[in-house]
Amino acid sequence: MKNFRHILEKYLPDNAVDAVHELIEDNQVNLNITRKRKTKLGDFRPPVNGKPQRISVNHDLNPYSFLITFVHELAHQKVWARHQNKVRPHGVEWQCFRPPGRSNSC
Ligand SMILES: [Zn+2]
Repeated sequence: MKNFRHILEKYLPDNAVDAVHELIEDNQVNLNITRKRKTKLGDFRPPVNGKPQRISVNHDLNPYSFLITFVHELAHQKVWARHQNKVRPHGVEWQCFRPPGRSNSC
């Protein structure tokens, strides 16, 4: 995978860059930084027809909104990896997602 850390630096708080870079690589998810969309800040698409899974985040978010949106969508990726479409998008499985190193209180 190409080094995309310098791209993340443009969009994220400085102290979140390494963690997000690691999460993208560990989870083998593509990150698409998209144009502004009025209907959503980001989304997750599972792998389909040989295309890799991907998270998209709008380019115009402030660094903290960008980070929160990324983590929100990564939780969707985690839920999909375990349950596919068998659970509700923002159900308890999604709500209980915690990044590595964080305790799971659910
Ligand atoms: Zn969501």
